[in-house]
Amino acid sequence: MLKLYNFLSRKLEDFNPINPPNVGLYTCGPTTYDFVHIGNLRTFIFEDVLQRVLEANGYKVKRGMNITDIDDKIIKGAKEKNLPIDEFSAPFERAFFQDLEKLNIKSADVYPKATEHIGHMIRFIEELIKKDLAYAEKDGSVYFDISKFPNYGKLSGLDNRILKHGTRVLADEYSKDDVQDFALWKATEADEVGYDSPWGFGRPGWHIECSVMSQENLGETFDIHGGGVDLIFPHHENEIAQSEGKTGKKFVNYFVEAEHLLVNNQKMAKSAGNFFTLRDIEEKGFDPLAFRYLVLTAHYRDKLNFTWESLTGAQNALNNLREIIRDFDEPKIGCAQYEQDFMEAVNNDLNMPQALAVMWDMFKSDYPSSAKAKTLLEMDKVLGLKLDEYLGKKVEVPAEVQRLVDQREQTRRSGDFKKSDGLRKKIKKLGFEIEDTPVGPRFKRG
Ligand SMILES: [Zn+2]
Repeated sequence: MLKLYNFLSRKLEDFNPINPPNVGLYTCGPTTYDFVHIGNLRTFIFEDVLQRVLEANGYKVKRGMNITDIDDKIIKGAKEKNLPIDEFSAPFERAFFQDLEKLNIKSADVYPKATEHIGHMIRFIEELIKKDLAYAEKDGSVYFDISKFPNYGKLSGLDNRILKHGTRVLADEYSKDDVQDFALWKATEADEVGYDSPWGFGRPGWHIECSVMSQENLGETFDIHGGGVDLIFPHHENEIAQSEGKTGKKFVNYFVEAEHLLVNNQKMAKSAGNFFTLRDIEEKGFDPLAFRYLVLTAHYRDKLNFTWESLTGAQNALNNLREIIRDFDEPKIGCAQYEQDFMEAVNNDLNMPQALAVMWDMFKSDYPSSAKAKTLLEMDKVLGLKLDEYLGKKVEVPAEVQRLVDQREQTRRSGDFKKSDGLRKKIKKLGFEIEDTPVGPRFKRG
C-alpha cells in the first residue's frame, strides 16, 4: 500500500485514488524567463519518481505540467532584449525539455501553456466575480477576496489573525507576511503585453493559470498536486482558494511538496554566486544522471545539500554501479525478497535512500547475477538511471590496452602530460578512447 505525506493534513496517509487504476497528477512547471536551476530540477526529479512509483503500483497516471510563458519576469526580460515574449521564452522552453530528457524524466501527458488559455482564465475569473469571491478595481485589476473564502490558509497553516483584510497584493510572488487579496487579473498599459478582457486591457496573474489548466485536464477534483515547499504559499494556497471557490468541491486530495535544495548549506541565489543549472554540471564533466542519483540519495522531504563533493560521490556511485552490472548475466527470474523490500521502501512515502540501500545490499547477496539483473531492471523502472544501457555490456579490455592505460595514469599523475597524451593516442590506435572524468579515467562508450 502506497503511503504519501499529505500537506493538507500534515500526515502520512494511505493513497486512495478517486478512480483507480487512473491517477490524475498535476505538477507546476517552469517559468520560461531563464534556465531552470538545479533546485527546480530536484523537484522535477522527485515528481518523476512519484509518477514511476505510482506506475510500479499498477496505476495509470495522467500528468499535466504547465508552462508559465507570461509573467512579470518574462515581460521584463523580453523588454530588455527588445523581443516579443514568445521569442524571448522559446530558448528557455527548449532547454527545459532538454534537461528533462537528460535527467530521464518521463514526459507529462500535457504541457499546457498559459498564453494559450487566456479566454478560459477570463471565464474562470468571471465565475468568481459572479460568486462574489472576486472584485474588479477601478484600474481594471481583479482581486480574489480572501475574506469570502473561510478555508483560506488551510494548506500553509496560516493563522486567520494575520490576514490583512481589505488590502491587496499585485505581485505574483509574495511572502507569508503579505496575506492579502491577491490579483487574478492585472491591468496593464496599452503598450505593454496584454489581452482584452471585460475589465479592460491586462493579463492574468500566475496563480489562476494553474487552477484553470489543471482542472481543464484532470477534472474539478483530482488526486495529486505536486511541487516544492516554496510553492505552498502563496501559489498552492491561492490555487485552492480559486478552484474550490469556483466549484464548491475539493480541489485536490493530496498535496505533495519537495524540500529545498541547498548549495553548501546555503539558499541558492544568483547574487550569492551559488546558482547552478544542468549546463554547469555538464561543463564540469559530470553525467546529468549523476545529479539524478544525488537527488535519490536524500528523502524528498529533507533538504538536499548540493556540493561538488557530493556530486562527485554520486558520480562515483553511479560509475561503480555501471561497472558492477556490466558483468551481469542475462536477466532471468529475479530476487523476490529484494523486490519486495524495494517496493516497501518506495511505498513508504518514497523513501529512495532506503530503496538504494536495498539495491546495494542485493549486489552483495549470493543470488546469481542473472537474478540480480532481472531485479535491477525492475528497480530501475523507479530509479530511472538507464541502467539497462550497461547491463551485461562487458568491456573486454586487451592486456596490452590495460597496460597502456595504467602507464598513462602514472605519467599523468607525475605531471608528464606530453607523455600521457602520447599514450592516449596509442590507446586510441588500438580502438579505445579514454575520457578523464572527475573520478578517474574511463573508456568512452562507442
Ligand atoms: Zn502552479
